[in-house]
Amino acid sequence: MCGVFGIYRSAEAANLAYLGLHALQHRGQESAGIVSSDGTKLIAHRGMGLVQDVFKPAELGRLNGDLAIGHVRYSTAKTSHLKNAQPFAVTYARGAIAVGHEGNLVNAEQLREKLEARGSIFQSDSDAEVIVHLVAMSPQRTIEDRIVDALSHVQGSFSLVFLSERTLVAVRDPLGMRPLVLGQMRGAEEGTGYVIASEPCAFQLIGARMIREIAPGEMLVIDENGLRSMSAFPSTERKTCIFEYVYFARPDSTLNGASVYQVRKSFGRRLAEEMPVSCDVVVPVPDSGVPAAIGYAEKSGVPFEMGMIRSHYVGRTFIEPEQSIRHFGVKLKLSPIADVLRGKRVVVVDDSIVRGTTSRKIVKMIREAGAKEVHMRISSPPTAWPCYYGIDTPSRKDLIASSHTLDEIRQYITADSLGYLSLEGMLDAATTVRGAESKPSDYCQACFSGQYPIELAAPPSTRRQLSLLDGER
Ligand code: 5GP
Ligand code: SF4
Ligand code: MG
Repeated sequence: MCGVFGIYRSAEAANLAYLGLHALQHRGQESAGIVSSDGTKLIAHRGMGLVQDVFKPAELGRLNGDLAIGHVRYSTAKTSHLKNAQPFAVTYARGAIAVGHEGNLVNAEQLREKLEARGSIFQSDSDAEVIVHLVAMSPQRTIEDRIVDALSHVQGSFSLVFLSERTLVAVRDPLGMRPLVLGQMRGAEEGTGYVIASEPCAFQLIGARMIREIAPGEMLVIDENGLRSMSAFPSTERKTCIFEYVYFARPDSTLNGASVYQVRKSFGRRLAEEMPVSCDVVVPVPDSGVPAAIGYAEKSGVPFEMGMIRSHYVGRTFIEPEQSIRHFGVKLKLSPIADVLRGKRVVVVDDSIVRGTTSRKIVKMIREAGAKEVHMRISSPPTAWPCYYGIDTPSRKDLIASSHTLDEIRQYITADSLGYLSLEGMLDAATTVRGAESKPSDYCQACFSGQYPIELAAPPSTRRQLSLLDGER
């Protein structure tokens, strides 16, 4: 998971990209980058860490020009390195081009081997570099034809922003797996101020208005001739990532016409119907479990309480003291409110269980705070399959639900009871919020069902791993 941003003709392009990336920070905390264009050349700055740490006034000041693209990258355990920070930029025979990619190409390794055999030299492990090489090698003349040509070779999920000296291009994969939206700065003159982002929450911060979602398979080209939309790929069906609604997207975003917050709440309501339990209080695991817990409380009629608070100041560089108080584990992030929990039968609502290690610590913490019973409720089905479309889930053996029964997971996390939302319930709740034109088959739900919408070209074992501790939600 990553976040992308693009802006066409604004006097403050780099500053707005900076703010846009800040609003997309939840989509990736490993590295951040912006590439701007002053009309004749591209200027890049990338770094490891949070947007606010990577960019200082001096760096932003160097990013001249009124076009820019930006990227935030999700943390992965194996490939955490500056060379993989995006946007990726190259100069080739016809000029310069930069790309920011969200998603994952399932045939990247095969393409890379072919390109290397033809003499390409790679500097990073990123799929974005594969795409850039394909664009640079294309025999087509215009930038849009080169991009379409390049993308005809790739398989997988992608939301892409490209920048050349004078053109901004945005492309969404044919199945619309990853989100991508179009907006415009308020008060912008015609043909200027266009913005592209992974999620509309970026528009809210910079004062842009949402125009629309970019359609599956659609390519937008923005240059001095204005904005042109073309369908780069035939798109017959939609397979939007349901996990965006479960966990990734920010609740103040609207994706595919449905408010992420409302979808999460409806997951919680549905969960209360499917998995009721006698209890005194409904408590979310903040922040990701909050909207579903509100829905659960609403439907069950049981009071909602914040039984834990989250520290928002735990960065990746936190130094643990050497001896006596080491191994805080989850306590660094979450702290119980004993007064809410003491003597109570508590329902704890979270959005997902991946490895189960956090959930286990949370249950223990709630019991130690004096709860009489702890019932875990999860607002998605068991995550039993890895994602190959841009989400760094652990390999199968680390996903607790891939090798353990419901009761074994319950025992492991030491809860009195455990209940997940059903797959049908989740899809039904999401489509109901979206309205009449949507249907359950519009979603990718492979991490829950193992039904992968795009076949894998590489063996799963070569995929990257997730480091759960790096996430901030
Ligand atoms: P677990 O019990 O599996 O160790 O942790 C469950 C928690 O992980 C949940 O609170 C959920 O919000 C969070 N989570 C789910 N998916 C991801 C992910 O892709 N990255 C991170 N950092 N956390 C995740
Ligand atoms: Fe999203 Fe899961 Fe599909 Fe990956 S496998 S794209 S996380 S729904
Ligand atoms: Mg969470």
